[in-house]
Amino acid sequence: MSTPLLRHLAVEDARRESLGLTRRLRDRDADDLVDLAGNDYLGLLRHPLVVRGAIEALETYGGGAGASRLVSGTLAVHAELERRLAELTGAVTGLALSTGYHANLSAVTALADPGTTIVSDAHVHASLIDAARLSRAAVVVARHNDVAHLAEFVGSARTERVLVLLESVYSVLGDAAPLAEILAAVAGSGATLLVDEAHGLGVVGERGEGLVASMGLAGRDDVVVTATLSKSLAAQGGAVLGPEMVRHHLVNAARPFVYDTGLAPAAAGAAVGALDALREEPWRPGRLREVMTTVADAVSVPRPAGAVLSIPMPGPREAVEAVEAARCAGVRIGCFRPPSSPDGESRLRLTGHADLTDVQVLRAIEVVRQVSGR
Ligand code: PMP
Repeated sequence: MSTPLLRHLAVEDARRESLGLTRRLRDRDADDLVDLAGNDYLGLLRHPLVVRGAIEALETYGGGAGASRLVSGTLAVHAELERRLAELTGAVTGLALSTGYHANLSAVTALADPGTTIVSDAHVHASLIDAARLSRAAVVVARHNDVAHLAEFVGSARTERVLVLLESVYSVLGDAAPLAEILAAVAGSGATLLVDEAHGLGVVGERGEGLVASMGLAGRDDVVVTATLSKSLAAQGGAVLGPEMVRHHLVNAARPFVYDTGLAPAAAGAAVGALDALREEPWRPGRLREVMTTVADAVSVPRPAGAVLSIPMPGPREAVEAVEAARCAGVRIGCFRPPSSPDGESRLRLTGHADLTDVQVLRAIEVVRQVSGR
């Protein structure tokens, strides 16, 4: 039976198909490709401490938190995770959420309202864009990493409260936000920076403490950090890290926290295990940097700030063909096309992992050079 909705979806599908923008899910189970597409930056997904952390939490608490955090879903493993995340990042407090997406939704919708101006970098993640819309704040978008443009918007805001949305390391281009310059440019304005460290935590800094902490900006009243547990921390979940008043307010007012079941205990336990592994094996962020430097130099792109490296391609079809050719040659690489690409360009997206061997890195370089023509 066809319905107006299904007919509409078919039209949308034909449009996507004609532009080469259709996406399909592919099962990862059955392959043993060299991976330059996933976000397990530290190579911890199957680390014994991660697996043991998950199993212990599962055995202690069962498969789920069983309720929202405010009802009876707050567990000791949540408190442990929040304490450890705050310790690593130098934040005063932490609050665990179900995903990084939820962390951004929670932070922005609870901290901004129609009496707030949000100044957003043009390349922030979809979760921050959605969150800004949901908050009903006035939103202005500054050109990517353009400090003067951003400061101009902050300076001309009509509200006293201003929230600036940034990523520490941007998820597609892999470049870093000029945090010190931004803070200097908006000094005295009273603006608060919300920095998404999804691609910075575990990656940037000697201990993987993230860009904010590595620049000595942790623990400030005007900086709030969001993070995901699903990339370098090899689990699932998210967190908001910042002043005690921010945490207290989120517990009371962030709808994606209040009305959501608490983070699954196994995910929290796995993330604590990843933090243990990072502490016991402090070579991991350094090895990751070494891998990224080698790959970037070999394909002649600027050395990235973190674990993400981006290679521009002429169009979406060329990008998809390159990904497919790399897969046939035994290497998995990522691909960003509109609408996921912040600047409308199609790109290959390469991510590194601390556990790649030198042989794997060299093979990956050979294949990437072939398929990208670099
Ligand atoms: N922020 C950024 C910058 C991201 O790249 C992602 C994940 N793609 C998220 C937030 C969302 O995190 P999660 O996958 O934990 O929901």
